[in-house]
Amino acid sequence: MATELSHEQLVALAGEYGTPLYVYHAERIGEQYNHLLAAFRGANVRFFYAAKALTNINILRYIKSIGCNVDCSSVNEARLALLAGFDPTNILYTSNNIAFEEIEEAQRLGIHINIDSLSNLRKFGLKFGHSYPVGIRLRPNIMAGGNLKISTGHADSKFGIPLEQINEVLDLVKETGLFIRTLHIHTGSEIKDVEVFARGIEVLFDVAAHFPELEVIDLGGGFKVPYEPGETGTDIALLGKKVKEEFEQYEKKYGRPLQAWFEPGKFLVSEAGYFITKVNVLKPAGQAVFAGVDTGLNHLIRPMFYGSYHVIDNISNPGGEKKFYNVVGNICETDTFAENRLLPEIREGDYLVIRNAGAYCFEMSSHYNSRFKPAEVLVKEGEARLIRKRDELEDLLRGQVGV
Ligand SMILES: *Cc1c(COP(=O)(O)O)cnc(C)c1O
Repeated sequence: MATELSHEQLVALAGEYGTPLYVYHAERIGEQYNHLLAAFRGANVRFFYAAKALTNINILRYIKSIGCNVDCSSVNEARLALLAGFDPTNILYTSNNIAFEEIEEAQRLGIHINIDSLSNLRKFGLKFGHSYPVGIRLRPNIMAGGNLKISTGHADSKFGIPLEQINEVLDLVKETGLFIRTLHIHTGSEIKDVEVFARGIEVLFDVAAHFPELEVIDLGGGFKVPYEPGETGTDIALLGKKVKEEFEQYEKKYGRPLQAWFEPGKFLVSEAGYFITKVNVLKPAGQAVFAGVDTGLNHLIRPMFYGSYHVIDNISNPGGEKKFYNVVGNICETDTFAENRLLPEIREGDYLVIRNAGAYCFEMSSHYNSRFKPAEVLVKEGEARLIRKRDELEDLLRGQVGV
């Protein structure tokens, strides 16, 4: 049974901190990390938490405290990771369509860098030659992931250097003396099928022969966690076993060890997050009953952006008679969290909790409609602590001139 916060605990937190409110459960993150360690026991592997999933500095500090490394999507995330106390050697920056100046900044910070275009790779080679080991992000032309918006490795994807351009990469290496330490792929998010990772390994092992200084095969993130009732996630135990076997075989066959890197985001933090909202109004309209809540797509955009499913519980009336509701937001835009969802009877003032709210929820929030971003609370060792204040009017004006 996974570590969870109870309805009573969540109701109490909503009362104390107000709503809408993000609550994260530290021990659940630690538990997920321990699952990974157990599944990959004996394998030559390192894990880098994909910080963009949930970036609050207190979360980054917790991630560091459990011994996990960190993967960044911008140089600012790398700066935050440094601020959280990560050593540069434990920070990875997987870039995508960025200016070369940002790669130079990352180099100055002394962190690992994965470069995803021939153009930046050439500039890096010309400037740094063999002096700074680097990774290349390849596009393996594998279709995988929960939906097209979160599929990143297929043959029409903008991410990475297409595999068919490998000869151009090799020419660049010859020309500039680049030290290629890592080959990287990230094929998407919510990849359930272990075979997709196995194919990725196969693709990179094939290419590895061209890179005599290679030390790392980085397989990105994308482990699936269950969102809908009855759904299952990626079989991490099977994946761990497979990675251990494949990498051992590689070493036996080619006489050199390679280390596997992974960059899990969702897997570590999704289920640790709860988003609590209060029902403002009930509005019967035709067949439907709308439950209008005190939040919207400005705070949690995944359902409207990706069509994502999030479990919703009525934590104020869990034993109530079940009825169908459309749970909708308060933004001037269609912002439906759930349609025709069977939920215990909802009354105005009830608290609903949206589950799996740890990954890509707060981080994608905005000030749209000039609403305040929610507060964030971290529960650790049974104690709740505010880790971000709810916005105030000044936060909406910050940066504006002529006020
Ligand atoms: C977003 C991202 C991840 C994390 O993906 P999850 O689905 O959250 O595990 C890992 N690596 C890279 C390069 C990413 O862009």
